[in-house]
Amino acid sequence: MDTVPKVGFVSLGCPKATSDSERILTELRAEGYLIAPNYQDADLVVVNTCGFIDAAVEESLDAIGEALAENGKVIVTGCLGANAAVVKNAHPAVLAVTGPHATEAVMAAVHMHLPKPHDPYLDLVPPQGIRLTPDHYAYLKISEGCNHRCSFCIIPSMRGDLVSRPVGEVMQEAERLAAAGVKELLVISQDTSAYGVDIKYRTGFWQGRPLKTRMTELAAALAELDVWVRLHYVYPYPHVDEVIPLMAEGKILPYLDIPFQHASPRILKAMKRPAAAENTLARIRAWREICPELVIRSTFITGFPGETEADFEQLMDFIEEAELDRVGCFTYSAVDGATANALPDHVPEEVKEERRARLMERQADISADRLEARIGQTLTVLIDEISVEGAIGRSYADAPEIDGVVVIEDAAGLVPGEFATVRIVDSGEHDLWGECV
Ligand code: SF4
Repeated sequence: MDTVPKVGFVSLGCPKATSDSERILTELRAEGYLIAPNYQDADLVVVNTCGFIDAAVEESLDAIGEALAENGKVIVTGCLGANAAVVKNAHPAVLAVTGPHATEAVMAAVHMHLPKPHDPYLDLVPPQGIRLTPDHYAYLKISEGCNHRCSFCIIPSMRGDLVSRPVGEVMQEAERLAAAGVKELLVISQDTSAYGVDIKYRTGFWQGRPLKTRMTELAAALAELDVWVRLHYVYPYPHVDEVIPLMAEGKILPYLDIPFQHASPRILKAMKRPAAAENTLARIRAWREICPELVIRSTFITGFPGETEADFEQLMDFIEEAELDRVGCFTYSAVDGATANALPDHVPEEVKEERRARLMERQADISADRLEARIGQTLTVLIDEISVEGAIGRSYADAPEIDGVVVIEDAAGLVPGEFATVRIVDSGEHDLWGECV
C-alpha cells in the first residue's frame, strides 16, 4: 500500500471551484491515486485557487506558499492559475500552473510529476508500453516532424513541422523503460539536435526540478538513469559540441549518428541540408580531440541531381579525411513529391551506382582499419542473443540493426540483456570477435 502515490489537495474559492476540485479528485481516485489527509503523507499537492478579489489572491498565494514549504511539490490550478505569471512570480518553484476547469491539464501535470499507479487488473499494457524491440533496448522518440526542407525528402510534407515532446514526458518514459530492465536507450527523431526549437527550449519538470527541452539537457538527464544512451540523427550544428564532454566523461555513449549525405558545399546547398555551411571536418577533429573514442556513423547519397565528378571527388576526399567508423550509401532516387526532382542535370543510373560502389569500396577499408585497431582493447559488450556462432553482442560503437556486432564464441555464462567485459581478439569488415575477460 505504501507504494501507491498520494496526492494532497487544497480547495479554495467558490462552488464552481469546488466542483472543479471534485472532478479532479474523482479522476485521481479513478486512476488509483490516494488522497493524502495532510502535507506530510502527500507525494505532491494540488492547490485549487481563487482570484476573485485581492484578498482571495492573497489567500491563494499564501496557500501555495504553505504547500511548498510543507511539501515542496505543488501543482496550481483554478482562477488564479489563469494568470500564471502572478503565481510563477510569487512562487517560482511550483511544478505547473493551469487555469480553472482544467482537469485534463491538471491530470497531465500530475502524471508528469507523479506517475499513475500501475493496476494489473485494469491496465492491459505494462508500464513501459508494448515494444517491438528486445527487452534490453528501446527507442526513445523525442519529437515528430521536421523544420528542414531537404530537397530530396518528403517527410515534412507527410509529418509536418517539428513538434517536440515535453521533456518531462520523455524523461518519464525513459525512467519507466529503465525500471523495466532496458539497458540501452536509442534517442530518435528526424533531427535530434533541433529538440525543443519549436517550443523555444521551454523549461519542463522532471522529478520536481526544472529541465530545459533541449538536446544537451535531455542527454545529461538521461545519463542519470544509468543506462546506455545513444544519440541518432544529429546534425553538425555548433551546439552539438556541448554533448561531446558528456561522452568524454562516460555519461552518454561516445557515438554520433550524423547523416552528412554529402561533402560538396554546392551539392549540400542544392540538397538544402541543415548545417550545410559548417566546416564539418574541423568540427569532427575538435570532437575527437575532446573525446578520442568517439564513433561516428553516417549516410551519403551519390548521384544527386547536378553532382559532377568534381563534387564526387570532394565527397571522396571527405571520406578519406573524416575516417568515419560506419557509413551507409545510397544512390539518389527521385521520391514522388521531392523538390529535387525538378533540379536539372540528373545523373545517369550507372554513374550513380559506380560512384556509390567506389565510395563504399574506399570506406570498407577505412571501417576495417578502424575495427582492426580495436584488437587488444577491452570493451563492455551488451549481449543481444545467443546463437550457434556464440554470443552476439554490441559495444558502444554499434547501434542495433545498423552497425556491426561483437561475436563471443564461448558463450558460457552469457545472458541476453546483460553486459560482458570482452577482450577483442579479431576483426573483419563489419564485426569484431572477442573473449570474455
Ligand atoms: S532529410 Fe532533411 S527534411 Fe527530411 S527529415 Fe531529415 S532533416 Fe528533415
